[in-house]
Amino acid sequence: MELKDLKNIGPKRLEGLNKLNIYNLNDLVFYAPNYYEDRKTLIPVKELKEGVAALVYVKIISGPFYKKTSRNMDMIIFNATDGERAVDIVFFNQRWAAANFKRNLSYFVFGKPSMFNNKISFINPIFSQTKTDELGSVVPVYPLTKAITNKVLRQCIKTALGEFEDVLVLPRSIAEKYNIINIKTLLNFVHFPDTISEAEYAFKSLAYIEAFLFHVMKYSGRSFSKKIDGFVLKDTEEEREFLRNLPFLLTDGQKKAIVDIKNDSESKKAMNRLIQGDVGSGKTVVSQYLAVKTVASGYQVAFMAPTTLLAIQNYEKLKTVSERMGFNCCLITSKTSKFEKNEIRKNLITGDLDILVGTHSLLNEDINFKNLGSVIIDEQHRFGVKQRDALIEKQKGANILVMSATPIPRSLALILYGDMDISEIHSMPKDRRKIDTFVVAKNEMGRVNGFVESEIKKGRQAYYVCPLIEDSEKSDLQSAKSLYQELQGKFDCNIAILTGQTSEEDKDEVMEKFKNGEIDILVSTTVIEVGIDVPNASTIVIMNAERFGLAQLHQLRGRVGRGKHKSTCIIVHNAKSEDTYKRLKTIERNSDGFYIAMEDLKERGPGEILGLKQSGTQKFKFLDFERDLKIVEESKIDFDLYIQDAPKDEFEVIKRNATDIFDIMDNGVLN
Ligand code: ADP
Ligand code: MG
Repeated sequence: MELKDLKNIGPKRLEGLNKLNIYNLNDLVFYAPNYYEDRKTLIPVKELKEGVAALVYVKIISGPFYKKTSRNMDMIIFNATDGERAVDIVFFNQRWAAANFKRNLSYFVFGKPSMFNNKISFINPIFSQTKTDELGSVVPVYPLTKAITNKVLRQCIKTALGEFEDVLVLPRSIAEKYNIINIKTLLNFVHFPDTISEAEYAFKSLAYIEAFLFHVMKYSGRSFSKKIDGFVLKDTEEEREFLRNLPFLLTDGQKKAIVDIKNDSESKKAMNRLIQGDVGSGKTVVSQYLAVKTVASGYQVAFMAPTTLLAIQNYEKLKTVSERMGFNCCLITSKTSKFEKNEIRKNLITGDLDILVGTHSLLNEDINFKNLGSVIIDEQHRFGVKQRDALIEKQKGANILVMSATPIPRSLALILYGDMDISEIHSMPKDRRKIDTFVVAKNEMGRVNGFVESEIKKGRQAYYVCPLIEDSEKSDLQSAKSLYQELQGKFDCNIAILTGQTSEEDKDEVMEKFKNGEIDILVSTTVIEVGIDVPNASTIVIMNAERFGLAQLHQLRGRVGRGKHKSTCIIVHNAKSEDTYKRLKTIERNSDGFYIAMEDLKERGPGEILGLKQSGTQKFKFLDFERDLKIVEESKIDFDLYIQDAPKDEFEVIKRNATDIFDIMDNGVLN
């Protein structure tokens, strides 16, 4: 059956349904209401409250009284009572409605009461002599459009639900655990509930089902790396030596992550782990631990970073460790000479090279390892899924460790990286000083520049970050180019500019000079976001901060505070609204990236963060990320347990039904 075959659905209404993203009967069945109205519980007139929708049962005692409003509208008034207290029922421009009221008869009347002529009144309420689907029951209220009323929609849903065949969507064990009944009954409860609590139960159960099926689909997707047997690493003397020789005490978060890595890599299944931790939380040593353990166990390591500079930074650190341990470590980037590359290739194949650090150059087809035991990816969000997969493909069963300095709430991480186990580093190294953060208005730039100047005089360096590269006629946002010129006139020091227009080569050169201290001030766009370590940079000034997301601002702030100097982040805004100002203050007051990520999520919604918003269609129907974080997490734990020894037939059926019903596969989350 198609939509157009439904009763009362002509071309106009069909168009209306399409506007609501309803194209077939399944869409109707899974169309979620916004809220519920209790049109069932009778309220005595004396308990009516202005503005609170309620149902009364009243007898018409007089009327109709016809009047005209000052704007020449028809107005018809009836006096009614529930035997105890009087109430007026008023219609504007609804002669047809008035014609249906008969004196001395009793009616159910539902609406939001208001005060009218000093009397509690129902204005244009719905009413009926007997109980109907629309009255005398709990009624879901749906998102609507002009051509489609709630009543019409409910009729359509009723028919569609009648045609709907119950299917298996949850494993029996899980359905039992949560007392979730079959999906057809749940849908009946959602659309035609007896009580509000019945509707809530069904709504929540469907949210759970949706989350669970999402995990099912994600697991079955192409880019999902299933737990496979992998290289088993040994418990080595070298890893203990490495940990003993660290120049600092590990934080609790680091210790926990190291234990996770140890357990994963010593087990038969290949490790597939994400480490999330704020900039500066010390993810590097954690990854080095894995590198040491891998080589000491007789395997090779590939370490990939998103930029040449980050690759060099990581290479230098790993080289120091390697020299101490007697490992061989090399770097490969686009700048590596042909000759060196050949050497590297040769030594990889013979197994003489233990650790290869590099950029995308690692992905070249002619880079082949003898026995790649672990793959480490830094700043993983900078890589596409394809690049990640390409490196992982180099060796099936290799232990995979990816790191991200863009903490996202756990529930989102489960959605984005559902196939990975996650370690979170919440604690910062003890000696890390808080970065002083100030939110200031644009007209205070004079003072801001003065502050930067005094820092430069002390021998420090500074960043200025702008939202635009060049001035634009369409906006008055600060551009990097004009600020660069302006600052050159103001300061007597070395200033450089770095934007998305700068070539890769020049970029590396500028960053190198900044790192060496040859450049004092770096004016840039957000291209400097990646985790470069310039310990001497102590100030970052962010222009038009209102244009950036909270997580991004926090990320930018992390460019400073990487050395022993007291560091400052100045957030310059041109905010017109109090809300924007308050939002920026969140950054001033908080330094926990996970907390800020959560605030960011609340503000922008998961859709935007996941990149789902473009199409405007609602992706999850009953599941709401903010409200249902717990459900997302629980369902993931349940799924992981289930999949370990899922009955194959059952899983296949659930998978097929998930595709059919929810069509999650082409909603874009999984691409
Ligand atoms: P990120 O997590 O951003 O990659 P890094 O690993 O680069 O952070 O660490 C930032 C700095 O903190 C480095 O200089 C590192 O040596 C130092 N560091 C890491 N862990 C600790 C610790 N537990 N105590 C003190 N300093 C630490
Ligand atoms: Mg790092």
